[in-house]
Order: sequence, then C-alpha cells, then structure tokens
Amino acid sequence: MGSNMKAEVELKPRLLINGKLVEASDQKTFTLYNPATREKVADVPEATQADVDAAVAAAKAAQPAWAAASPDHRAACFKKLAQLLHKHSDELAHLEAVSMGRPVSGYFDAHAAAAEFDHYAEAWGYIQGQASVNTPGYLTMTLRQPFGVVAAIIPWNVPLFFLGHKAAPALITGNTVVLKSSEKAPITCARVAELIVEAGFPPGVFNVLSGHGMPSGAALSSHMDVRALTFTGSSRTGRLIQEAAAKSNLKKVTLELGGKSPALIFADANIEKAVKETSYSLQWNSGQVCMANSRIYVEKSIAPKFIEAFTKQFADVKQGDPTSADVTVGPQADEVQYKNVTSYIEEGKKTSTLALGGKGKLDSTNGYFVEPTVFLDTAEDARIQKEEIFGPVANINTFETEEEAIKKANDTEFGLYASVYTKNIDRAVRVAKALESGYVGVNCTSPVTAKDLPFGGYKTSGQGREGWLHSMNNFLEEKSVIISIEEGGS
Ligand code: NAD
Repeated sequence: MGSNMKAEVELKPRLLINGKLVEASDQKTFTLYNPATREKVADVPEATQADVDAAVAAAKAAQPAWAAASPDHRAACFKKLAQLLHKHSDELAHLEAVSMGRPVSGYFDAHAAAAEFDHYAEAWGYIQGQASVNTPGYLTMTLRQPFGVVAAIIPWNVPLFFLGHKAAPALITGNTVVLKSSEKAPITCARVAELIVEAGFPPGVFNVLSGHGMPSGAALSSHMDVRALTFTGSSRTGRLIQEAAAKSNLKKVTLELGGKSPALIFADANIEKAVKETSYSLQWNSGQVCMANSRIYVEKSIAPKFIEAFTKQFADVKQGDPTSADVTVGPQADEVQYKNVTSYIEEGKKTSTLALGGKGKLDSTNGYFVEPTVFLDTAEDARIQKEEIFGPVANINTFETEEEAIKKANDTEFGLYASVYTKNIDRAVRVAKALESGYVGVNCTSPVTAKDLPFGGYKTSGQGREGWLHSMNNFLEEKSVIISIEEGGS
C-alpha cells in the first residue's frame, strides 16, 4: 500500500454535483461487497432523479463560461487532474481490487486515465472547421462547437480508463459532463470526484454520480437537457439507452457495446505466439473484457497441438486475493457475474466437450472465482458460442479452409475485435478485409490496441468510434456559416 492509501473503514463515497461532494438527495445508499471475500466495502450513494436533475442543471449553467474560456484554461485543469491520478494510482488500484476484484499487479487504469487528460490537454488545437471560396460571391466556413451537456455512462470492468476516455474529449471540446459510474465499481470514480475538486475544475463542469441503471442511468438517457451521451456497456443496455434517447430529445448517442470476438489460427502461424496471446486475451481481468477472443478457430491440422498448448497456458494463472502483488487473476466482479458465468459453463457441459476447468470456486474460496475453462467442438448455434459470457471461458473450434474460417468468424451479431494468425501476407490481408469487425489484429489479438486508431463495433457491438483525436468528433456539432461578399470595393 502507498502512503496515500486510505483505510477501507474511512471510505465515504459521495456524489459530485456542482463542485460539492454530497450524499444522495434522499440519503439512500447501496452496499458494495468485495467479490474476493464477500465482505462489505462501502455504502455508496444511490443518485436519485433529483440528483440527476441537479447535476444536469449545474452542468448546463456552467457550460457557456467553460466553452468561452481559453482552451489553455481547460487544459490546466486537465494537467492537474492527470498529476493527481498518477500520484494516487496505488490507492486507486487498491480500491478497484476490493470493489471489483481487479488484481493490483496488472492495474494501469489511473495512469491510462491520466494519459487521456494529458493527451486532450494538448489536442484542443485540432478542434477546427473548414473554410472555402468555392461558392462565387461567398465565403463559407464551418464551426465546430460543443453540444452543451454530455452524459457519460460507464461499465465496471476498467472504470477509470473509461472515465478519462469519455470525459476528457467531451470536456476539452467545451462541453460539460455528468458521468455515472457503474454500481459494481463506483468507489474509484467517487475518489476521483474528490480529485476533480482538487484539480480546480469550476463547479458544475465535471459532475460524477453513482447509482444503478434505474433510476440514474435511465434518467440521464431520457433527460431533455442532455444533448449527447456516450455509453460503454452491454448491447442490451445500449438498446435501452438509444430507445430513451429517441423518445426524449434525440440526443446524439455513441455506443461501445459487447463482443464475441473470433481469433483465427492458420496452420502456418507462429503457434507459440498465438497460444500465449489468445490465452492472455481471456485471462486478463478474469475474461471480463469486451474484446476478449472468446471464440478461437484453429486449422484442423494443428488443432491437437494448439489445444494441448492452450489448455496448459490458460490454466497457468495465480488466482487469489487481488490486493496481493503476486496474484494475476482475481474473482468475477460480483455475484451476478459469477452466476452468469457458471450457468453458461453448466450449459456448455451439455453442448460441448469440456477440456479444462468447468467449475466455480465459491464453496472452496468464499469468493467469486471461476476456473479457467475450455470447451471444444461447440455447436455454432449454441448459446455459449453466440452470447457474451464475460468470464474465463474459451471455445475452441476447428476449420479446414479460409472460406470456412471467415464464415464462422462472421456468423455472429457482434463485431468488435477479430484476429488472424498466419505468416501468409496475402491471406492476412484477404481475411482482415473480410472480417465483419471494427478492429482486426493480424498476428496479434486483444487487448492489443493503438491509441490513435479508432475503436468501435460493427453490428450490435456499437455505433460510433472512440480514440485519440477521433473521440472529439462525438462531442462537436458542426455549423455551416455562409457569408456574402459584396463585389467591387474601393
Ligand atoms: P451494463 O450494460 O450492465 O452496464 C453499463 C452501465 O450502464 C452501468 O453504469 C449501468 O448502471 C448502466 N445502466 C444499466 N441499465 C441502464 C439503463 N436502463 N439506462 C441507462 N444506464 C443503464 O454493462 P456492464 O455489465 O457494466 O459492462 C459489461 C458490458 O460492457 C459487456 O457487455 C462488455 O462487452 C461491454 N463493454 C464494452 C466495451 C467497448 O469498448 N465496446 C468496453 C468494456 C465493456
């Protein structure tokens, strides 16, 4: 623990509304439990409709002055917050470990959030329109301007990364923000709310709420004064949010949703590399990653070799107390996730061949740990092949031709990340072109991404793209201005 660590008993998460750290308007809280021990961690404010209204009203009141200020002024708050995030990274790692079970050994979120604020502090010069004299008698130009109030609703798997990833581009473009954390991992965001005050953001500019989808998430989605909303979470919730947006004020919605990502391993691939990377893709964060390669397709001729090496590598994790420095894999985030994952596993035992694991470890550990599990020969229409499990469960199937591999990979409603392992450059390019996916890794797989590439989903994996520079487009309206020029002149 770092010297700046707070004892767990001191935890008093608050909402940040209009620059003040407050309880919910009706003082109601919900209890957060440590998924590794099932002990109570904190009572967390459950934001009410009145709290959402107050936060949006504060954001609306603060927005004109924030947008009118010099971008340097906005950037100064970003730089200070980035410094504070770096400084408190150990403390935040500990808080995430006890709230959703992420091992401190692999914690990077606070530094990643800081990198977002640092990046956008420098990126404001790219907020530019265009000008032309293509229309005779006129000067035309476009202006890029903020929407006003932006809502950000984030998931629990990488909370602070999403806080930075969404709030930084929304704020630097002159919008004000109301962010709602996930009920499964609210305390790091609540701690960052304190740092936002310390960083000197003007009251109302950056508001942070905690609470469930009902009422606070739904209230933001249907709020008439929220003009843009950025969401990361499940496809199910994404649909509800888009429906609420359509039924209220048609706010602009950006959706980063679920996945069931395929990895195609051809016989000429570097098998050792493919085994290492595809298993890490599903080990990281206990498989609770939107882009994890949960469907692995291996060319039949190398399947026995690949499966043997994969099951060995996949089982090679140190599960345990996520606050211990030597633990690499923690529990599932909570009871709901644990029950989901273990019920998919039980169903898989009926529709597939179990090659590794296959059990939840609640009884033996008193925490929501799940054995790394591998299924073989899963029917392509089985639920465990079609739906997102969000746990350490790999399905390995085989293929004989490139055409068959592509067809199977694309036979899904998701399209977030796909990967292909082959040494044949022509095949790599053909397959990358054919995959119905917003992101393709060639001889690499998730979580490998590049900061300056747009990230987002095909099909039900989402709408819109995020990424350095790209995200700012989600928060800028475009205005066309046409100016008549009188001919002649003295
Ligand atoms: P979730 O959809 O259950 O919840 C996400 C957020 O939405 C939470 O803050 C929740 O409180 C809120 N919410 C729930 N119901 C709501 C409603 N009716 N209206 C408004 N908000 C509501 O998702 P989760 O379980 O937190 O996260 C896991 C999911 O997120 C997985 O499907 C995963 O694939 C996806 N995910 C996607 C990406 C991506 O970049 N595409 C990244 C991480 C996670």
